[in-house]
Amino acid sequence: MQDLPWHVISEQKIGCTVVAEIRPYWRNFIDGEWLDSSDGRSIPIVDPGNGKLISRVACGGAVEIDLAVAAARRCFQERRLQSLTPAARGELMFAIAGELETLADEIAELEIHDNGKTRAAGYNEVKLTQRYLRYYGGMADKLEGRQIPLGDNIVDYTIRMPYGVSAQIVPWNGPLPVGARSIACAVVTGNTVVLKSPEDSPLSLFVLAQACERAGVPKGAVNIVCGYGSEAGAALVSHKDIDHIVFTGSVATGKSVLRAAAERVIPCVMELGGKSAAVAYADADLDNAARNVARGILHHAGQICSAASRLVAHRSIVGPLVEKLKAEAARRTVGPGAEDCDMGPVISERQLQRIEALCEVGVAEGATLATGGKRLEREGFFLPPTIFTDVRPDMRIAQEEFFGPVLVVIPFDTPEEAIAIANGTDYGLAAGIFTRDLKLALWTADRLVAGQVYVNDWWVGGVETPFGGTRRSGYGREKGQEALLGYVQTKNVGIKL
Ligand code: NAD
Repeated sequence: MQDLPWHVISEQKIGCTVVAEIRPYWRNFIDGEWLDSSDGRSIPIVDPGNGKLISRVACGGAVEIDLAVAAARRCFQERRLQSLTPAARGELMFAIAGELETLADEIAELEIHDNGKTRAAGYNEVKLTQRYLRYYGGMADKLEGRQIPLGDNIVDYTIRMPYGVSAQIVPWNGPLPVGARSIACAVVTGNTVVLKSPEDSPLSLFVLAQACERAGVPKGAVNIVCGYGSEAGAALVSHKDIDHIVFTGSVATGKSVLRAAAERVIPCVMELGGKSAAVAYADADLDNAARNVARGILHHAGQICSAASRLVAHRSIVGPLVEKLKAEAARRTVGPGAEDCDMGPVISERQLQRIEALCEVGVAEGATLATGGKRLEREGFFLPPTIFTDVRPDMRIAQEEFFGPVLVVIPFDTPEEAIAIANGTDYGLAAGIFTRDLKLALWTADRLVAGQVYVNDWWVGGVETPFGGTRRSGYGREKGQEALLGYVQTKNVGIKL
């Protein structure tokens, strides 16, 4: 157990702002112990809502990764998880979810200040994480092998084996649920985990570590180390003693992870970026389309891999649809979650500069800035909802991921052209269709290159539905029953009687 309370909320009121006092220093969770960094370094954690330092985290490097992988290996070799019944491994997930219940208020507050989430989104992160833990906890005892008939005197059966030590790398936009779903899949199937938390927003995953500790997860089964990607991340994915990688992050980093994995022929689940298109046909319910596209691009200030970042709209409805989208943008308050605003900041000054620079490219390319495009003049890292019209599919703003609250609107004339535009990027994560014509919706869904397609809503689906990319958006699936198959390999046992 950490020697200080992990997080103290003072509830000190300054105007309408509730200031949370976040524990000033956090340690890494390795082999069931809370450890400082071996070289004494720490990572500063900044509140994106005001740009101020809120905490520091022990900076893990190659040494900490070595310790964590060794702990995970020991736990696996000694079969501390595999010797439990699958049902007992499932019970561990229920217990972690239960611990999170008692920590929900604190986690929500932490997500506001560490991650820039709104208060509602902070609470949702906890609920979503509990859903993942309970869903995969419930599946622990339902993953079965097969018996294969080979005639008299032979018994043949298959076993779903864990890989061993699963190395997991998580991005900053939703570390708690993204981390928890991979940990849950790994642990219920008997793998042990070393997870590298994101250096920009690591705190909620330390709370998950604490919940694991309280829930009685065996020592070494779950290890959580925070460090910079180029050090701890690179050391983890190239470690000689890992057996499996789950990477969620950008395409550029994903490529370097895959190169490291190739050296040792390690299987990978890759969840990468996106530039997902919402296709709106002329007969679409415009209010519904505007509401959903706005939600799809503005939730968490657009920092969602499956954000609705392109609107591919029939030329006849572009004008009225953009007006409705501008109204959706205008009615949202932008500011810190602590002030109960509708849309929060982007994660860092660096990310805000990157988004602003790409907006300037859009203007230089000849697109029209219908709204937004410049940071708010206040402390923190805020970009208002931004919409570009008159966008051509070949422009950089139509091809590159902003990972911010920026929508580009591209007109089309025929359904074939809509498909060509929607499929015309390197990515293939999500796509949406807005129409009242079900036949047209099915025709379009068949032709869109994407891991998931939403019709007349954005983000139709849930914990139960498989999620993942095609093309440069990655491969493998998280969420749903299918995800578990990414954490096991089949062993066939044949017996001559
Ligand atoms: P990123 O690739 O910069 O970082 C992701 C993680 O990788 C971080 O923990 C980082 O420390 C680590 N990392 C960085 N360099 C590394 C290296 N050389 N070796 C190993 N690890 C390294 O991505 P980001 O900016 O943190 O996150 C945003 C990206 O993640 C976007 O592209 C977004 O679309 C994507 N994303 C995808 C999904 C999905 O499910 N498909 C979900 C969330 C985010």
